[in-house]
Amino acid sequence: MPAAEKIHTVLGEIEPADLGRTLMHEHIICDIYRVTERLNELLNDEALAVAELKLLRQAGGSALVEATTPDMGRDPAALRRVAEQTGLHIIMGCGWYRQPYYPPEIDQLPTNQLADIMIAELSEGVRGTGIRAGIIGEIGVNLDYASAQEERVLRAAARAQKATGAPLTTHASMYPVGLAQLDILRDEGVDMSRVIIGHCDTYLEQAYHLAILEAGAYVQFDTVGRNHMNPDARRAEAFVELLRLGWREQLLLSSDRCFRSDLRAFGGVGYAHVFTTFFDMLRAEGVDDATLDKITIENPRRVLAW
Ligand SMILES: [Zn+2]
Repeated sequence: MPAAEKIHTVLGEIEPADLGRTLMHEHIICDIYRVTERLNELLNDEALAVAELKLLRQAGGSALVEATTPDMGRDPAALRRVAEQTGLHIIMGCGWYRQPYYPPEIDQLPTNQLADIMIAELSEGVRGTGIRAGIIGEIGVNLDYASAQEERVLRAAARAQKATGAPLTTHASMYPVGLAQLDILRDEGVDMSRVIIGHCDTYLEQAYHLAILEAGAYVQFDTVGRNHMNPDARRAEAFVELLRLGWREQLLLSSDRCFRSDLRAFGGVGYAHVFTTFFDMLRAEGVDDATLDKITIENPRRVLAW
């Protein structure tokens, strides 16, 4: 008999039933600044992170996926301390982000060795820490195509997915490029029900979302509150339309906090926004609490367990 599926957090395994209400794509400690040189794009204040995440706890949040990869400054030990201080279940990512962030190894190592690095982090833990990743990603493409190196990383991520059963979460922003990601993952034989296409709410064309859903993958609206990409009203409208079409089993929500200006301390809406303001917008459109629970408790529990 196969071992029972667990959810793998930075503090160890938990039972899927214990996960609770979950944000599926966030960042706590994250360094995008090293590439963009925009000071706003550096989260490196652990004490502030704990204070901000306590507001998420107060809003009913119980867990989050920390989608930061090593090339964006992932810090497993810091995530473990934050989990201890907040009581949040934190599911940590692994892999590589997108072309401008890649280290030289992406060119130098064979694809299967890149896969082996992810497999080791998922099954044994990050070297020197013993802290295990619980999800693959965020695995991205920079523009509206997968570069040669991005295709290599996607293929390696696919092989790590098949070897472990872990979920795979992507970054596909501003273009309908999640379909190109699905093509590569499908070519590698990945089970589409283990795949989450991220940032779908940065490209609000329903045909795009339906193509992902019909392929069997999850559509994730994970930039909620980022009104410079799309106003939440447009986001809510598109989301409710997908619900009306019957897709609630394959929808996920989050807010991708990764800028200082996202935090409450800097005047942003913070980590609680999905479960407060955005939930209220969905309720005003007739979405019931059972559906909100399905999307933010039951769907995360299903996709994160392996
Ligand atoms: Zn992200």
